[in-house]
Amino acid sequence: MHIVCSQCGAINRIPEARNHTQAKCGKCQQAAYSSHPVELTDNSFYRFVEKNDLPVIVDFWASWCGPCQAMAPVFTNIAKQSESLLFAKVNTEQAQKVSAEASIRSIPTLIFFHQGKEIDRISGGLSESQLKNWIMQCLQKLG
Ligand SMILES: [Zn+2]
Repeated sequence: MHIVCSQCGAINRIPEARNHTQAKCGKCQQAAYSSHPVELTDNSFYRFVEKNDLPVIVDFWASWCGPCQAMAPVFTNIAKQSESLLFAKVNTEQAQKVSAEASIRSIPTLIFFHQGKEIDRISGGLSESQLKNWIMQCLQKLG
């Protein structure tokens, strides 16, 4: 399995028998996997979303957005509980190119990606149970 280092962006190949949550990055020697949402920029976004073999759930947010602030701890909490999924955040004020290319019209918007392909998206603030239900629906679409 391939995992993009949460620290330096290097692509690491993890043997199937190894637990990816314990993997160290071959380039920077730090933990390649992060159970905390990874901040992505215009420069790091596509590599992270396309080169990770695990699905990536991205939260498009902005600092002035109340519902984004309210959902942030929920998102972080679910990220900690979900070892087979990756979580990332895109600040739409800073990563304007990615936000435009993803056609983000309202925030917060969550997009579920698998190997670079958008599987589904949902807009508006979600509770923990709503977020979990949406993730389950996305996983079912993967088959
Ligand atoms: Zn690294």
